[in-house]
Amino acid sequence: MYDLIIIGGGPSGSQAGRCAGKEGLKTLLIEKDRFPRSKPCGGALSEKARSYLDFELPPEICEKEIFGARLRFRDQIIEGSRDFRLATMITRRSFDNYLLEKAAETGIEIQTGERVTDFEEREDHVEVHTKAETFRSRFLIVSEGAQGKLKHRIRKRDRSKEYGICLVADIEEDNEKIDDFLPGILEIHFGLIHMGYGWIFPHDGYYSVGIGSFARKWPETKRLMSDFLEKNGFTGKYRVRGHLIPAGGIRRKNVGRRVILTGDAAGFVDPFSGEGIAYAVRSGQIAGAVVAEIAAKGKALSTLKDYEKICENEFERNLRYALVTAKLTHRFSNLIYRVMRNNTESFDKFLEIQTLKRHYLSYLRWLIPRIPKYFLINNRR
Ligand SMILES: Cc1cc2nc3c(=O)[nH]c(=O)nc-3n(C[C@H](O)[C@H](O)[C@H](O)COP(=O)(O)OP(=O)(O)OC[C@H]3O[C@@H](n4cnc5c(N)ncnc54)[C@H](O)[C@@H]3O)c2cc1C
Repeated sequence: MYDLIIIGGGPSGSQAGRCAGKEGLKTLLIEKDRFPRSKPCGGALSEKARSYLDFELPPEICEKEIFGARLRFRDQIIEGSRDFRLATMITRRSFDNYLLEKAAETGIEIQTGERVTDFEEREDHVEVHTKAETFRSRFLIVSEGAQGKLKHRIRKRDRSKEYGICLVADIEEDNEKIDDFLPGILEIHFGLIHMGYGWIFPHDGYYSVGIGSFARKWPETKRLMSDFLEKNGFTGKYRVRGHLIPAGGIRRKNVGRRVILTGDAAGFVDPFSGEGIAYAVRSGQIAGAVVAEIAAKGKALSTLKDYEKICENEFERNLRYALVTAKLTHRFSNLIYRVMRNNTESFDKFLEIQTLKRHYLSYLRWLIPRIPKYFLINNRR
């Protein structure tokens, strides 16, 4: 009998494992792939995400540092930088592998190359089935990512409109050319697709080029991805990979009697930016800590519910305002773009959302009263 089983070795599962291991819980993490494995991702690790880690990342994992962004809206451009780091570019293959090693360091058991097929909650334990074995544990954390189906044992099927689609290609290029084109900045293209954007992100020896939308129309997204590649001069043959992404800011049931869902499985992704690593890391840590309160410190089983409250206070409320920001920005894209172009402060403050310095609510509170003024200025011109 384990204290805790974790399904999935992505950032959320590995952080839950590290937290449980540090608390001395007898923990087993089961991951279906053999690591290192790749995962479709833009690879932008926000400063917020990095600040949640309780260890430094080795320099070979940190490919580029990001201080600003170039926003393209149709044929117009806004570019700006801050004097502090906003994000670090990582490749998920090495980043996720390193996080899993940091979990293993705490003494937890890790079994890779084995898929969990199902689980059942019993009165005093959970049974977790793989093809080969059945394991028993007092608690279970499901960190299976966006595409897993085990979460539906805790909550009914999600509506398809709660998910977006992302397409991404990694395109090799010389570092010199990459640094010339994107010197410490990310390029983001708005106005291409409803409730989404296209991106060109700099990495070590390649660009991550992708498009994502929460308005989820598969054939249209595919066609827009081809156009986007071509318009930006990427005319070769590339491996384009697709992946679902949940929209955060929607209330979901994420706790069962002895089970917690974390990361993408819980729907914790910023519906405006598509950022999910920060919330995967943090929700995994919170879940591990809440289980330890019961399994190691003898608190009541009902303490498991604290997970939802802590997530709500730490970041879920912010994700709800991210959803409001996404809807406003896509509905009034021309107007918001004009405000940003005419007021560098509005762009600077927008960039700060990638750090813990600013939340969406404080941004909206700052921005909305200024909109009429910029609307009038522009209409007079
Ligand atoms: C194209 C794309 C680009 C993105 N770009 C960014 C970005 O630049 N920055 C950012 O912050 N976020 C980005 N995101 C979001 C980010 O990738 C996710 O939010 C993050 O990976 C969630 O981490 P996780 O641990 O919850 O899930 P995952 O990273 O998906 O990990 C889940 C793990 O569970 C394993 N698993 C699944 N089912 C089972 C099973 N039954 N048994 C055993 N193991 C199982 C999987 O193999 C996987 O390793 C992007 C997403 C997409 C799709």
